[in-house]
Amino acid sequence: MQRLTKALIFCAAVSHLAAWPVSTPTAQAEELTGAYWTQEQAQAVLNKTLRVHLAPSLDALSPGERAAVESLLEAGKIMQSLYEDSRHPEALKAHAELLRLHDSNVDNRRTQALTDLYRLSKGPIVTSLDNERIAFLPVADEVPGKNVYPPGISKEEIEEALARQTELREILLHLRAIVRQSTPGNLATDLATLEQHPVLSVLHPGLQAQLMALRDNPSPTGLYAVPYSVAYADKLLRAHTLLNDAAKAIEQEDAAFARYLRNRARDFLSDDYESGDASWITGRFQNLNAQIGSYETYDDQLYGVKSFFGLSLLIRDNERSAELAAAIDGLQELEASLPYESTRRIRADIPVGVYNVIADFGQTRGANTATILPNESYLARQYGRTILLRGNILTNPDLYEKSKASFEAAVHENHHSDLTAEAKLYRTLWHEIGHYLGVDRTADGRDLSVALEDAADLFEEMKSDLVALFAVQRLTAADYYSEQEAIAVYAGGILRVLQKNQPRRDQPYQTMQLMQWNWFLEHAVLTFDARSGSLRIDYGLYHDAVEKLLAKVLSIQSAGNRDQAESFVQKYTTWDARLHGIVAENMKAREVYRYTLVTYDAIGDLEPGESVH
Ligand SMILES: [Zn+2]
Repeated sequence: MQRLTKALIFCAAVSHLAAWPVSTPTAQAEELTGAYWTQEQAQAVLNKTLRVHLAPSLDALSPGERAAVESLLEAGKIMQSLYEDSRHPEALKAHAELLRLHDSNVDNRRTQALTDLYRLSKGPIVTSLDNERIAFLPVADEVPGKNVYPPGISKEEIEEALARQTELREILLHLRAIVRQSTPGNLATDLATLEQHPVLSVLHPGLQAQLMALRDNPSPTGLYAVPYSVAYADKLLRAHTLLNDAAKAIEQEDAAFARYLRNRARDFLSDDYESGDASWITGRFQNLNAQIGSYETYDDQLYGVKSFFGLSLLIRDNERSAELAAAIDGLQELEASLPYESTRRIRADIPVGVYNVIADFGQTRGANTATILPNESYLARQYGRTILLRGNILTNPDLYEKSKASFEAAVHENHHSDLTAEAKLYRTLWHEIGHYLGVDRTADGRDLSVALEDAADLFEEMKSDLVALFAVQRLTAADYYSEQEAIAVYAGGILRVLQKNQPRRDQPYQTMQLMQWNWFLEHAVLTFDARSGSLRIDYGLYHDAVEKLLAKVLSIQSAGNRDQAESFVQKYTTWDARLHGIVAENMKAREVYRYTLVTYDAIGDLEPGESVH
């Protein structure tokens, strides 16, 4: 029964995501070849997968906003298919074939498990339980350049080509351009696209002439680049229309959001996101918000420069956002209370809000806790960055159970009830605000990233963690937190720093977390009970210990001496197998899930356990 229900769930889910025509069942039974993973192989991964279902209430939305949501969800499905395609050249074809096999009812449980695995992996390559990337459908192995560089090309080959034509570097490594071999076929296809959609030539002056010149006189590099708008013209033009539809539906009630959508629609065709980013970051919207387009570059393992498509549709949590806005009013006083000589004026309009995820597509799909964009420094400097806290992920009961299990495995049973689901939301929120406070350049005026080099991120993140914890005392005095909530945020601060593995120095987050763990041990906030193998927490010592470490971090940032910073890192990254090792093993022993698969009510996914009637 359980299995049948699951099968129905993911049938429903997948049919909503499919961008191709649904095939009709064939009477002929077909065998799956050995290139498909077996039911057992797929199930081994799915058994380690936590399923999280998001279904925020949309009751607060007006009819216009609802119409906008429908158009944006359609645009999201396009982003999903673009994402899968740009990560693997055979993804969409292999998925369509899998759905056809599933419909033809051959070995249904196996095709169902494989369909679930595709959804989890957003493509035909899964990260196995041994942490390897493996194809589970009959497709080629994954390559570092995915499907945004010529198939199988190496970094060395690109560098060789660039050495022959150095002026091409910026063009080939553009954030939003695909690299191709300059074959007559490729050039003819791209020129035909420009011919068919004159708007793209208008928005990319000179591109058509360049491609024609290449066609007539092949380049010495053998490579060229076309903007995403040309490479994915049909899909992005469709997305352009959908964003404009959404803008029209809400222009009367949320003019600022409508303007953002229109700008972003045009950005899709120009591949320059400045107009959309400016109206996104500085706009003040009503109930809806959305991250739309290609931003993050994690999937490009060749150069780490190509962005991948996604769309995240969010509804504002008005109560939490208002609460936050009130607390931010006192930010200047919080800044003045930090343990350093502060002369900093805090901007009064930090663009931060708490939202619930309606649905995520493509690169944004998953259990991310916050969106902080854009990444490009010229945009962040000029317009700032928007911070969107993902409330229904941060407080999700199933994800909370997962972290609670880790916490309980590590701390003494007297503390098991200290943590709450809300704690992570507040700690994360104040961490993000923490980035706006404290030292922002060295005492002699240098940029922190220039002065501290590879240690800069680590100290910036540690500062923000500590500001969030330092603020607890003031926020409790101001009745923003109850006493119990204050304890919960402190407990969340402990959970944050405990590690399941000894961090490598090239892992800034884990390294600075271990440093806090060791600082808490040194200052007796944490004591290790060797008999039970667990940690005890002394909340009475907490604030002072945080203040002292924050003072240290701020002084290191202010001094801007990389060697001094690094020796502080060395001093606090010790790992004792009989203490850290034991806590880590206890936490690992309680680990039930390795993967998270998020489903969404808004696109017709069913809740796990819910059956179709
Ligand atoms: Zn941060």
